[in-house]
Amino acid sequence: MLRFAPSPNGRLHLGHAYSALLNADLAARMGGVCRLRIEDIDPARSKPDFVHGIVTDLAWLGLTYPEPVRHQSRHMADYRAALDGLIGRGLAYPCFCSRGQIRARIASGIDSPRDPDGVPLYPGTCRHLGPAAGDRIARGDPHTWRLDMAAATRRAGPTHGYVAFDGTGAHRVAADPTRWGDAVIARRDVPTSYHLAVVHDDAVQGITHVVRGRDLEAATDLHVLLQALLGLPVPRYRHHPLLLDAGGEKLSKSRGSRSLADLREAGATPQAVRARLGFA
Ligand code: GLU
Repeated sequence: MLRFAPSPNGRLHLGHAYSALLNADLAARMGGVCRLRIEDIDPARSKPDFVHGIVTDLAWLGLTYPEPVRHQSRHMADYRAALDGLIGRGLAYPCFCSRGQIRARIASGIDSPRDPDGVPLYPGTCRHLGPAAGDRIARGDPHTWRLDMAAATRRAGPTHGYVAFDGTGAHRVAADPTRWGDAVIARRDVPTSYHLAVVHDDAVQGITHVVRGRDLEAATDLHVLLQALLGLPVPRYRHHPLLLDAGGEKLSKSRGSRSLADLREAGATPQAVRARLGFA
């Protein structure tokens, strides 16, 4: 079981098309199924029009998916339950720091280590607030929830890895989740983050093979830790190369990459797009 899991915060571009076609192609070769999941946990950026656009663009490419399509925004109670489980076991703590406060705190420190996305690691300001944290939550202070990485890795036991697969075979990859530090597992506005929702949903949807871009390869290290903590199966992973624009940058809406809808309007055919991406 595979899945294509776009976030509806813009129109799909060629990079999405490549990922969707690769997932569909591998599912067909394996005699499996590829599901569609709408990753719409961000209430500010997710728009129904974009959900509609995703389905339209995929259908235009010739890709259809079994029902029901999973919309993450409809499953917040499930993520809340998973989060509460981690909190109850002392593996997550509330963090009241604003981004500005974290920046200021880091600026005053010496040489701060960074996570794989280049963001300075959280310095742990709220890690040991004790009962004061409960008072602040009761008062309604906005907060995220962070994984207590030291407690989590202790609880999960020896380092967990995963099996990576590609066109030629499979090999074991060691994971080092500690490079993410005390990662945010629930945002201020919803009781989950990308990381928590993705491992939960991959398990609920019975996903056995996750095929996604290399930009998410480092996140897999954190995902296998969450899977160990939550008692979830670990799928096999394949992290495909990203399509780059003429300037060597990853395609993205914010950098003005042309959407599939733009290409369609300019007269491109689905066959031409498929052929351009190597799926004739
Ligand atoms: N929703 C993510 C994105 O649009 C992909 C998540 C995943 O494949 O794990 O980049």
